[in-house]
Amino acid sequence: MTEKNHGHGCLSAKAGPENNVSFLTGFSADKYARLQFAEPEEVRQVQNRLFLNHLRYTLARSEFYRKKFAEQNIGADEIQSLTDLVRLPITNKSDLEDTTRFCCADQADIVDISLTSATSGSIPTMIPLTGSDLSRLACNEEVALGMAGIEKTDTLLVCAALDRCFMAGMAYFLGGAKLSATMVRAGSGSASQHWELIKRTRATAVVGVPSLMYKIGQFALEQDEDPAESPVKKLIAIGEPTRDQTLALLPISEELESMWDAKIFSTYASSEMATTFCECRARAGGHLRPELIVTEILDGEGKAVPAGEIGEVVVTPLGVTGMPLIRFRTGDLSYLIDSPCACGRKTPRLAPVIGRKNQMLKYKGTSLYPNAVLSALEGDERFHGGYVEARRHPDGTDRVILFAAMNGLGEPEGSAWITARLRAALRVVPEIRIIPPEQADAKVYQFHEKRKRITFFDQR
Ligand SMILES: [Zn+2]
Repeated sequence: MTEKNHGHGCLSAKAGPENNVSFLTGFSADKYARLQFAEPEEVRQVQNRLFLNHLRYTLARSEFYRKKFAEQNIGADEIQSLTDLVRLPITNKSDLEDTTRFCCADQADIVDISLTSATSGSIPTMIPLTGSDLSRLACNEEVALGMAGIEKTDTLLVCAALDRCFMAGMAYFLGGAKLSATMVRAGSGSASQHWELIKRTRATAVVGVPSLMYKIGQFALEQDEDPAESPVKKLIAIGEPTRDQTLALLPISEELESMWDAKIFSTYASSEMATTFCECRARAGGHLRPELIVTEILDGEGKAVPAGEIGEVVVTPLGVTGMPLIRFRTGDLSYLIDSPCACGRKTPRLAPVIGRKNQMLKYKGTSLYPNAVLSALEGDERFHGGYVEARRHPDGTDRVILFAAMNGLGEPEGSAWITARLRAALRVVPEIRIIPPEQADAKVYQFHEKRKRITFFDQR
């Protein structure tokens, strides 16, 4: 065993033309910048070429896909263009439990190992990244942040973990640095630390989850300081949606905009797809990134649905060399918007994520998503936080219980406003139980401390 060959079962170096990965290196935002404004036919041609490169590279090196294609009798030569994509097998999250079968790079070429965040009971996925992947990640985020209007004159506070092998914080840092913005790696600090940094660095933009931005603003207000008077003018929201299904701002987003006197921009990304769908200045969905990812929206039978129709987001990230994926099922439900965008880009946009496919609840004859229940209440100062629990009725329908904690709680009539809010936003009202704030916090932060909330508990 050599010094460098003690790792995680990646394929050893191979001779032959498939070992040449030069076509994937040297990611530059300029190279594809024009593509966002190009005619669909030109975009399709470029994407087709990138897709075929991706497929060739992956099939030459990935143990998982070689086996999968062989099982389904699909020869690499049969795939001639993107239109053949529908014939290819789907990759599930559960397939990624052992990522050694997916690793396509020599161990010596891997420069970073990222881990996805585990949800309750699941094992984090290990993702090896090559130098080329880091270059791709930086380019991806450079373009995404640029779309939201971040410029080199901005000072950007990154309130996402940069350690513990998380990819997101690193990606924002790399992309922002590539844009030449001034980067402040605040990481997963407390609201008071973030607020101090905003004041000291004169930050003009913040990247973070909306609930954290709200906490930072609340902290400032408690110190008799006004976040609206800070130089922060852009809030780049990650991890949680900012708009509802109709693209209207959620109450918490409205609250954040007025609290900070800033504009909120939504980004959608995940470690597996290593690509960001970010809102432009028009803020009407995240633009697709044809140079970096093939995006499909599929129905329950795996068929593509037309723009405007809700389905599962299935992605094929292009140009990834460490752990390339083909048709990865994200589990997120959304729809495509193909109407012209006010920014002039011709790429379609991805609407806000409506919910997780496996979290859809059947309730009083309608489909309900746990995040929609909480989104209807967040941003109201009376609401401290809470979570949703689902149980199955013997008749096959779901029982949905909202456990809500209120600020300055006490009066029993205090939950009437919650009922009214939920009825207005969702048309149906789940069972409501009022619990103390400490109990709500203990439950939602039990897996990730302050980093990520778990707000849905499925007992079905
Ligand atoms: Zn746009």
